[in-house]
Amino acid sequence: MFRVTCKRYFSTSATIRLAQQSATDTFSNGSPLNLALTTEVPIHNWTKDQIHEIYNTPLNSLIFYAQLIHRKYHNPSEIQLCTLLSIKTGGCTEDCKYCAQSSRNNTGVKAEKLLDVDSVFAKAKEAKERGSTRFCMGSAWRDMHGRKSAMKKIGTMVKRINDELQMETCVTLGMLDEGQAQTLKSAGLTAYNHNIDTSREHYKDIISTRTFDDRLETIKRVQDANIGACTGGILGLGETDEDHVSFLYTLANMDKHPESLPINRLIPIKGTPMAEELRSKYKGRQLTLESILRTIATARLLMPESIVRLAAGRYTMKESEQLLCFMSGVNAIFTGEKMLTTMCTGWDEDIAMLKKWGFIPMKAFKKTGPKSHLQIKIDPAKKTFTVDLTEEENSERFSQLKALN
Ligand code: SF4
Repeated sequence: MFRVTCKRYFSTSATIRLAQQSATDTFSNGSPLNLALTTEVPIHNWTKDQIHEIYNTPLNSLIFYAQLIHRKYHNPSEIQLCTLLSIKTGGCTEDCKYCAQSSRNNTGVKAEKLLDVDSVFAKAKEAKERGSTRFCMGSAWRDMHGRKSAMKKIGTMVKRINDELQMETCVTLGMLDEGQAQTLKSAGLTAYNHNIDTSREHYKDIISTRTFDDRLETIKRVQDANIGACTGGILGLGETDEDHVSFLYTLANMDKHPESLPINRLIPIKGTPMAEELRSKYKGRQLTLESILRTIATARLLMPESIVRLAAGRYTMKESEQLLCFMSGVNAIFTGEKMLTTMCTGWDEDIAMLKKWGFIPMKAFKKTGPKSHLQIKIDPAKKTFTVDLTEEENSERFSQLKALN
């Protein structure tokens, strides 16, 4: 269905032009996919029906279209490496059914105190030396109410990691009020993580101690304080594909799209209600690779500027499965010693994998457009797109790859 005309390959100003010859069913005029591909600015008023249609595009085509948009907005060679540290583990009063750190779940995780600033800084320094450019700090708290001294300490952690290591910073501390969001902004925080977890419909089956709207309010406060929102969810909580559609509907219709959109794959943990429900209530609803890829590719099409982050559970995926996730729109991973309470693939293994697939680590504060790689230009009127390659751009990319040797 496509004509490919290759004028000159890998020489200065060479271009490859691919002109769409005829519309497929999923790419007809006015279709949601057509809209996602040809809009000049990201859209914030998607309907569930539109997202359902995109999500159910034949997978091979869905990934191709997600790649197009990925290459229009990002340098597709770059993957951000970030490291997560649990700065306050266990003893959380919330009842998230999947979580090892809830005091209501019998998982053997003990409540610990907040780590001191120097220990956290040392971990961030190590992460930077090993190749990470973003450092995320997680604490098992419902909210920051009455935690003034902890907030002060965390502000110091953020400021030191920013100023002395020039790393991007992200924290997750539960629900925040406006003043707390401002305190974190003043410390220089890059992003605040607060996941919506799943669809609005499925949420009530997962958590009862705070509502879906409570979550949205904290995310709004973070965005109002001009901090990037890192918000996404967990796949594999016994949800359906329609829940994935609804989950994406909430994220894509936020006034500001997430700066970072983590996609976690549930690792069922012994002693959590979710591990039991996956064997009983949700038996037969196993999460498939296809659903993961559909969620990622649809997220990429709906929220083209966001960093899509493959988070917890990645270590259970084969490298070839991870490559498919990158091809579908993922451009960040967690790497290092551990996720909060689950395993994580280490730096050396990840850097070797990225090199093998032709990726380079993204620099801190450098989420760039596709300036140093293929430049995709989509002409909404003609329904065509052009791919530009130049010698200089490729030289830069290959020298970066070589530097990884
Ligand atoms: S709020 Fe966070 S730490 Fe607390 S139970 Fe839920 S997921 Fe776990």
